[in-house]
Formats: sequence, C-alpha cells, structure tokens
Amino acid sequence: MTKYPFYALLLFRLMLPALGAEADLAETPIALTTDPAIIFHDILLSLDETPVSEHAFILAQMEKQIKQTPRDWDQLPDMMNLYSLGQMTIGNKVKGEQILKYVDKHYPSSNSEIIFEAVHPDCDKCSGKGTIKVLCPTCKGSGTRPSISPGRKACASCRGAGRILKSCHTCKSSGKKYSQERAKELYGKLLAAYKRAAEGENEASPVNAPGPFSVLNSGWRVVSSDADLTEISWKCDVVNNRHEDLTFDVEFVFYDAEGFDIGSDQDFGFQVKAGATSTCTGRTTLKPSVQQQIESFKVKVTKR
Ligand SMILES: [Zn+2]
Ligand SMILES: [Zn+2]
Repeated sequence: MTKYPFYALLLFRLMLPALGAEADLAETPIALTTDPAIIFHDILLSLDETPVSEHAFILAQMEKQIKQTPRDWDQLPDMMNLYSLGQMTIGNKVKGEQILKYVDKHYPSSNSEIIFEAVHPDCDKCSGKGTIKVLCPTCKGSGTRPSISPGRKACASCRGAGRILKSCHTCKSSGKKYSQERAKELYGKLLAAYKRAAEGENEASPVNAPGPFSVLNSGWRVVSSDADLTEISWKCDVVNNRHEDLTFDVEFVFYDAEGFDIGSDQDFGFQVKAGATSTCTGRTTLKPSVQQQIESFKVKVTKR
C-alpha cells in the first residue's frame, strides 16, 4: 500500500492525454523531446512530488538519462550531484560518494566538493581531530612510574600527563564522518530550490549556485508623484553563474496586503555576460491610490 501515491500519480499522468483529446490523437504526431533541460526538469519535478521512500525508481530513470546526455551539457554536473545525494538518501552511500568524486574530477568548477564536505561533517567522537585522549594504560592515569622505591619518576609512556593520544576508530583518524541525515537534508533543499527555480522564483541556492543564475538586491522607489500618476522605478541584480552569456525575461510584480497582483512591469530579453552581474531596471506608473496599497513585490526571472 505504501507504493500507492506514486503509482496513482503515474497513472493519472498516463491518463491525461486521453481525457477529452481522443479526436485529435490520430492526427497529432507525438513529439519526443531530446532536450536534456526538459527531460531533467520533468525528473526533478517527479522527485519533488514523490515521497523519498519511492525515489529509487525515479533515480534509476535519472541514471539512464545521465548516461545518455552529452558530457558537455552545462547542467549535467549539477544533475549528477543531485543524483548522488539521492543515492545517499536512499542508503547507497558508496555509489553516491563515487559519483561525487567522479564529478569533482571531471567538472572541477561544480559544487561536488562542497557537497562532499557537507555530507562528511566533523566526527563527533573526536570533534574532527582524528585522535582522542585516553587514559594511559601504563600508569593508569597517575602519570608516575610504578616503583617500590621512594621518589617515583614520571611515566615514560605519557611523560607524566596520565593521558595518551589514540587514533579515533569511529572516523578511522580522518576526523570526518559520513552523515546520511545531512545528505537527506541537502537533497531535500536542492529539490525544493529546483522547484522554485522551475516556478520562476529564483533565489540563492543552498549550495552556492546549482542554478544558472541568482537574483539579488531587488527593490523599488517612488520617483515622482502628482494627483493622477505615481512614477515608480524598480531594480534587481541578476547574477549569471554560467560560463556563457545568458538572456532573461524579468518581471517585477507588486502585491497588496491580501496578496493580489496590483501592477507589474517587464524587461524582456535582458542580457547578462558570462560570470557577470548586471542590474536590471525599469519604470512604471500607477494611480497614487494603487501605489499606496503596495505591500510587497516579487521579481520573476526566467532564463531563455
Ligand atoms: Zn602514563
Ligand atoms: Zn573521529
């Protein structure tokens, strides 16, 4: 019964084209996409919508897709990083770690090293030192050499300290310990970030920049106002995280206290050079009575 929600969803999706579209089916050729961006987008959304306990099946599809995708597709390292976190989340530690190491070797500019460190926090047994202090077995902690003669001398094993350093068994002296909990946490955050990105609400991601861009420093102000019109200027900084020039459609939307959209302005075809940050600005006019209702705003940025 636990598999019910996923299969129900799958069944629902398979049925969708059949509902109310029977007449068109014969004439409409089925378009099979080969665009990895579209295929991975669908995979990411199904991962996000499905309970983690059911992810193994979708991850297997993702693995198949990764093998078929051209090695130079710019989002492939991010997809592989996410896939590795998925594997660790469902219990395949070794597989997940191997992929992170592979990505780090072949795509050194990706986030795989940061992710690897994040899922290997400091060992709690030795606090990351790789060694622990234990009672000296020779002097049992007294620091002195057992002797029947008066004037005991310092213990040779611990030089009088009573404690000696021993390598930590828990982390095999590395000071780091793999954490499946961390992998699961990061995996969930990344999936949520991808979902928000797919919905056009971009923001700084949990691990630097798995997305192609980030949006910072957005805001608006009144430029001038009279009885009929209030002129508003708005701005946001768009950071291009990629090694290629990108073009965006930027929409600035104003909301009232109830969350209703009461005005918006757009800049279509906004360009940002590879690795650069550019400020997107615009001006719009609203009735003064409408402007006074502005409670919040949202910047929706879509990569072309
Ligand atoms: Zn000792
Ligand atoms: Zn340790």
